[in-house]
Amino acid sequence: MTNRAEFEAGLKKLQRRRLFLWVMIAIYLPMIWTVLEISQSDRTTGLFFAVWVVLVGIAANLTAFTRCPRCGEFFHMNGCIPLYFRHCLHCGMHASGDERRDKFKQSS
Ligand SMILES: [Zn+2]
Repeated sequence: MTNRAEFEAGLKKLQRRRLFLWVMIAIYLPMIWTVLEISQSDRTTGLFFAVWVVLVGIAANLTAFTRCPRCGEFFHMNGCIPLYFRHCLHCGMHASGDERRDKFKQSS
């Protein structure tokens, strides 16, 4: 039962971090456009851009170093380059946790 709870907690953590990363990437253009429209200032826009770069860097690193709840390896890292795919780069588990969507199907 504890293993199931740990798996669920790990899965939620993985999904939360992936969502944070994709939201940070998605807000870039609307944020820059809105700040430019409102402020009409390159300096203010540059400040927002700098804050965004820091936050997206944090999001990318948090997501890259999140462990897979099934195999315990880094979900998005195999070697030193992070790849933000939906499947674990080690065991093939899908980010949704749905076994039917796993990359490597269990034959048993
Ligand atoms: Zn895995």
